[in-house]
Order: sequence, then C-alpha cells, then structure tokens
Amino acid sequence: MDCCRSNTNTSVSNICPICNFQGERVNTKTIEGLLIIDRNLQKDKTYYLCLNSDCDVAYFNDSNDIVLKSEVKVPIWYKKDANPKTICYCSKVTEEEIIDAIKTKNCKTVKEVVANTNAMKISNCVVNSPTGKCCSRQINDLLKIMNNK
Ligand SMILES: [Zn+2]
Repeated sequence: MDCCRSNTNTSVSNICPICNFQGERVNTKTIEGLLIIDRNLQKDKTYYLCLNSDCDVAYFNDSNDIVLKSEVKVPIWYKKDANPKTICYCSKVTEEEIIDAIKTKNCKTVKEVVANTNAMKISNCVVNSPTGKCCSRQINDLLKIMNNK
C-alpha cells in the first residue's frame, strides 16, 4: 500500500490543447494499460490527464497527441456523464458508495471510509486508475465536502 502513503503533491503543469485547463502528469504505462484501441503513445513525451470535467480529452502531451475519454476503458469519474463514477478503480468502489458510507457510518477519515467500504482493499493504482495514483486523495476530497455541509 506504499502508493497510498507517498506523494500526495500533484505535479500540475501542462495545459490541455483543447480546453486550456491544467493537466496532471500521468505515467505512460498507466495510459497504455487503459487504452481500448491499439495505439502507440509517444514514449519520449510526458502525458497529462485533462482535469476539466467538460472536456472530452482524457490525456494529452505537449506535442498535441490526444487520447479521448472514449478511447479509455474506464469512465473517468470527474468527467461529465461518467457512469459509474468510480473512485477506487482497483476495488471498484463508486462515489455513491463512499458518500453513502460517510453519511450512514458517519466517517470522518479515509481510514474509516476504507473500513466501511471495499475501497483500497486491492491496491494496484498504477494500472487501474486513470490517474495512476491512489484514490485516497479523492476519498479525502469527498470527506471534506460531506463533512463541511
Ligand atoms: Zn481538456
């Protein structure tokens, strides 16, 4: 579960060529594993995940190579029309289940959410998650939103 502890600081830097939103750096290996079609990525380039919910771009690099969300196996949870809205891609736990656990079990921490759902039971984020990183960040965000209500 090392991936869940280490760097929560995200390297946000490049700009999506379609929507001009900032992207988050993603390992090429992660993208390759999530592609539906056989398609070559530019291995010497750095790819980014477009964080704009309205944009159809999943990944892009600074040479304008674009991977659309329709070319990716899993729905990217924060994108418009994502169904289901998966938070933990490794254990297939949805946003709905996590919100439900926060509400009904009164969870205050990621640890409590993990104890009350299947989230993070399996941890292979590099190949399963569109970010290539652990979902604890997203669980934390949901906790903040729900507990600030
Ligand atoms: Zn975009």
